[in-house]
Order: sequence, then structure tokens, then C-alpha cells
Amino acid sequence: MAVLGKRTLDEPVTTLAGVGPRIAERLARLGITVIRDLVYHLPLRYQDRTRVTPIGALRPKLEVVIEGAVEHSQVQFGRRRSLVVSVADSTGVAVLRFFYFNREQQLRFVVGRTVRCFGEVRRGPHSLELIHPECRVLDESSTAALDARLTPIYPSTDGLHQALLRKLTTLALEVLVNDTGDSDQLDGLLRELLKRDVRLPTLTRALVFVHRPPPGAPLDELWQGSHPAQQRLAIEELLAHQLSLRRLRQRTKRLSAPRFASAPDLRRQVQEAFGFKLTKAQARVIGEIDRDLSRAVPMLRLLQGDVGAGKTAVAAMAATRALTSGYQVALMAPTELLAEQHTRTLKRWFTPSAIDVLPLTGRLRGGLKRQHQNLLKEPAPRLVVGTHALFQSAVEFARLGLVIVDEQHRFGVDQRLALLEKGAQGNFRPHQLIMTATPIPRTLAMTAYADLDISILDQLPPNRRPVTTTVIPETRRDEVIARVRDASAQGRQTYWVCPLIDESDVLDSQAATDTAAELKTALTPLRVGLIHGRLKEAAKLDVMQAFIHGAIDLLVATTVIEVGVDVANASLMIIENAERLGLSQLHQLRGRVGRGNAQSACVLLYKGPLSDTARHRLQTMRETNDGFEIAERDLTLRGPGEVLGTRQTGMAEFKIADLSRDRGLLPMVRELADRVLSSAPNLADRLIRRWLVDRVDYAKV
Ligand code: ADP
Ligand code: MG
Repeated sequence: MAVLGKRTLDEPVTTLAGVGPRIAERLARLGITVIRDLVYHLPLRYQDRTRVTPIGALRPKLEVVIEGAVEHSQVQFGRRRSLVVSVADSTGVAVLRFFYFNREQQLRFVVGRTVRCFGEVRRGPHSLELIHPECRVLDESSTAALDARLTPIYPSTDGLHQALLRKLTTLALEVLVNDTGDSDQLDGLLRELLKRDVRLPTLTRALVFVHRPPPGAPLDELWQGSHPAQQRLAIEELLAHQLSLRRLRQRTKRLSAPRFASAPDLRRQVQEAFGFKLTKAQARVIGEIDRDLSRAVPMLRLLQGDVGAGKTAVAAMAATRALTSGYQVALMAPTELLAEQHTRTLKRWFTPSAIDVLPLTGRLRGGLKRQHQNLLKEPAPRLVVGTHALFQSAVEFARLGLVIVDEQHRFGVDQRLALLEKGAQGNFRPHQLIMTATPIPRTLAMTAYADLDISILDQLPPNRRPVTTTVIPETRRDEVIARVRDASAQGRQTYWVCPLIDESDVLDSQAATDTAAELKTALTPLRVGLIHGRLKEAAKLDVMQAFIHGAIDLLVATTVIEVGVDVANASLMIIENAERLGLSQLHQLRGRVGRGNAQSACVLLYKGPLSDTARHRLQTMRETNDGFEIAERDLTLRGPGEVLGTRQTGMAEFKIADLSRDRGLLPMVRELADRVLSSAPNLADRLIRRWLVDRVDYAKV
């Protein structure tokens, strides 16, 4: 209870000095509305301005203070004019580089003067550099005191400066320390649950420490996130996350779904159309799905299976049950390209049984599209294939019984919630099968997807030969071009991928266009195709069709072909700038080959010098084809602080926890979640509200 005259954490931020409507609006963008939210708005990282780093100890990416004498200062005229100043201490020389500078700034750097600079270290053409550091000339008159504490850097948004965030968090921490109302039962219970680890501080102390590490705080632990205060908060955050997913699961289990009967006849017909026998793993996973589909509770199952493991066939088997029971099935693909491919495959499999397969892709003409949409308003068993966009629009389903989502690497809890609402009628929900080729280790999956049941397709169809991978510097590009020619002479096709050069679609497409032109000349008379993000959907599909039909020998592409594309005759994959891609992306791309009977190869072209991590990544690709193994290595390769982010896996972004670093905590977190749910359910609510305010509206859950 709030004591009269005392501030509480539940008060709106506008009660803090300096927060008017404009600032409040900006804070709201960060999910901060009450004082408590500020307390849980944790620093992303810290700047260390407490000590001077010897120049000899600089490493790229570190943010450091250096101090040294100006040795040399000069304006360079290269591609971009820059002021270049070399600074030396007794351990080495570093370069300061400024692209924007005026005459006065230039004159400050008198040879022999001592300067102190703060900035991020980067690799320059000749030595390590600080780009646009903050600099101060040290002379007898200026005192040279360093900061006593680390400087926290907060996640921010336009128009919210770090200084203001620091001021506001300071005020919020004062409220926290005085508001005993917040730590009552909660801290006690958590302490009891956590008593195995006595080293952990209380919640309040942990929060204060993380916001304002005291002078002398152990820096290494802080950088790594292994300090007990950080671990204490990470446990709570992971717990909150876990609890929210369990709630979601409990909610799903209270809803109802249609029971599907078994479908022996339709299955037999479809399997005949497959032209192959299901693998043991496929059969097992289909069994797991069948159990769910025969219950009156919505299935919410994640199917993880490596690239090429045959998830589409599993999806088709799941569909047979819904169709036989008179329900509609919707299959969503992430791209038009893939939707088109699935339509073709499913038509081949289902047409013999007279089941309609209706595409709803962007390519469809208006008339046909409307016709298909109208067909879906009839309660007849049909299979519809499209992208997410189409399902978000005005498509109405008369009797949707099963939703299958393919290649879903990037989906967060909020998207899962949204999906759950699709086809909802009162308490009724369709069953859901979510398929992904981004395998993640089991312990992680159980945490990140605690709201889902998980099936694993851990076996490739027989007769697959592992793709041979080689790593080649781009100076030997000619050899690689010769291999393309050889492949083509043997009637095989090749992909040549030019991945992200920039975060810009325009520039990437340009790079692919240039490469295609270059290769066309180098490889005449081979037929070279080009596909990139700037092409119209119809044009992309045309190029893809041509490749599928063998009318193109070499397909130059951006990473648009990353997911799902299945062309068995393509047996050579070249990936340029491979050093820039993450392991899971490389693995996905490589998975485009090795789908037929021919021995396939993947060439990873790189531009040196390679960073340690890049070298390890490329080596991993050379050593293994196993997606789960690659996922494991990916985790260990990531440095501390490199969060396993939403982009890669669709897992939540955390404020302080790091799924890879904090893996060891996960079993404990799951146990804690069990105990909280059984013995203190309202504690669960409070934890969820504290940590997840800005993400999903769990109040509705
Ligand atoms: P992914 O799991 O990556 O989606 P696909 O479903 O595209 O894999 O299957 C990859 C290829 O393997 C397809 O050409 C498919 O027809 C084939 N395939 C699937 N299952 C089997 C099987 N049991 N035996 C032989 N080939 C199979
Ligand atoms: Mg697939």
C-alpha cells in the first residue's frame, strides 16, 4: 500500500520533475508510462570512462578512453576528405579520424600536445582508429579527473537523450528504494525459491546496481553479464517470459477445436502421388500431429526440421485429416515464390483425390482471386495456399479447421497470439501447425516456445548425399566461375548468391544485377537469370519458373531465395561475401542444393581479413551439414551480449537475459515457473506486468 505523502512506483511518469506531455509521449514509445517502467528500463550497455586504456591494448569495437601525444596531424583527400591525427603513448600508436571538422578543431591537434579521447575502436586501413572521438586537450590548466562510475547507456528513441534518461532513472530509483510496497511478498518468495544461490542480491539491490554500478564494480563480470545482480534480474526476466508463455498455453487449452477423424483413404491416395515412402521420422511426427488433431483442443505445434527434411509431406498428411472431416486447410508461406511452389506440389499430390488446391497469391488476376475467395465462403473441404498478407486481408473462411504456417523463423509471441485469433469463433479455434527449418537446441526451444508443443524431424530422406562445402577467397573467383561452367556442362544448374552488402534493398539488388552482368560475359553462352527484391512479384515468379524448367543455367540472386525453394536439379551453390552472413542463414542457403541425387557442392567465397568469429562460422559450415549441430555451434560462437535476437529465431528480445549466455539458468527458471504457477499465481501476474509491459497485452490472456 502506498503510504500517504510517499511516492510509489505505480504513479505515472508525469509526476516526475521534468516530464511534460512531450517527454511523456516519447517515453510511452519505449513502453514507459509509470515510474516502475523506468526502473525496469535497463541499460543496454555501459561506457567506461573511468580508466585510460593503453593504446597497445586496443581492440576493434571496444569503447575506450585513450591518452597520448599528438605525433602527426593532416587532412587526407581520399574518397572522403578526412582529418587524420595520430596519437601515441608508450604502448603504441592509434589514429583519430574526423570526417566533419572545422579549422579550429584542426588546429587543436598541435604536435606534442597531450590529448584524451573517448570513442569506439575500429580497424582502419593501416592501424586501429577512433572515428569521431570526443577529444579534450590536456594542458596544465585543465584537470584530468576520470569518471568514478561506468556510464549506463539506455535503449532510447528520437528526442530522448541519454542524459535525460539517466536523470529520470535516478529519480525512479529513489522511488524504488523508498517504496517498500513493491518488494513485500514477492521478494520474500523469490528469495525462498532461489535460496540455493545465496550470492544473489535482492531485487531492489540488483536493480540499483545494474542502473548505477558503483565505483570499483567488477568490469569483466559486467561486460559479460555474469555479475550476480545481472543474473538475479535475468532469472526474473526469463521467469516472467516463461510464465507468460505458460499462460498462453493454458488459455489455448481452454479453447475448443474440431476433432478430426482418421483419413486412411485420402492418405493412401496422396502417398501414392508422393512417389516416395515416408521416412521413420516423418511417420513419427505425423503420429504426434494425429494425436493432437483427434482431440477437441486446438493443436499448437511447432515442427522443427532441418532444411530438406520433408516438412511439406508432413503438412500434407496433417491436411488429409482436416479435409476428410470436411474442413478447410490454409497453408501460409513467407514469400509468393514459396506459395507458388507449394501450390504446384500440393496440386500434384491432391488432384488425383479431387481435392481443390486454391492459390491466393499476388499473381492471381482479380477475377480469379475473387472466385477463389468466394469458394472459401462455402463450407467445403479445400486447401488454400498463400502468403501471410493474404490471410490478413478480407479472406473469409467458412470452415477453417487447420492452419499450417511454413518457414516461420521469425515470429514472436505477439504474432502467435494474432495467429491464434485467425478463424476464431467464440471459443473455437482452428488447429495450428507451425513449421521451421531453423532448428534450435532443445533446452532453448522449451524456453522460447513454452506455449507450443514441439515435434522434431531429425532425419533426412534416404539417398541424400551431404553437400560438400569449400571456403575460397574471392581472389580465386575465376576458379569458381570455371566450376559453374563444369556444372552446366554436366546438365546441372547453379545458384550464385550475392547477399546483403548494405541494409538497402536498392544497393543489394544493384550488386546482384552487376554480378549477373559480369557472369553473363564470363560464362557465355550460359543462360544467366537474375532475381532480387526489387523485381515485381510476377517477374520473380517468371524467373523462378524458368529456373525450375531448366531454361536458366545460372541463377544470380539476393537472399530472396533463402527459404523453401526446391529445385532438385540445382547442385551448385555459390555464396559471395559469405563472411558477412550468420550461420543459420548460410545453412538455409546451402539447403537449396543437395535435394536431388547428384553430389552437390557449396562454395563460400569470402573477402579477407576474416574476424575470428567469421573464420569459425565458415569452418563450421565446412565441417557439418547438420542443422542442429550448426545451431549449437552458433550459440557458442556468439559472444556475450550478442543476443539471440528476434530476427534470427523469432525468440523474444530480452532486456537483460541472454538465452545463449544464460542457458544454464533455464532448468531453474522452468522449475521456478512451476512453483510460482502452483503456489503464487498472482505473483505470476506481477512478474509478467513488470517485465513485459511493452510487448504483449497479457491482460487479455
Ligand atoms: P523442407 O523440410 O525443407 O520443407 P521439402 O518438404 O521441400 O523439405 O522436401 C525436400 C524434398 O525432399 C522434396 O523434393 C520432397 O519431395 C522430398 N522428400 C520429402 N520426403 C521424402 C521422403 N520420405 N523420401 C524421399 N524424398 C522426400
Ligand atoms: Mg519447406
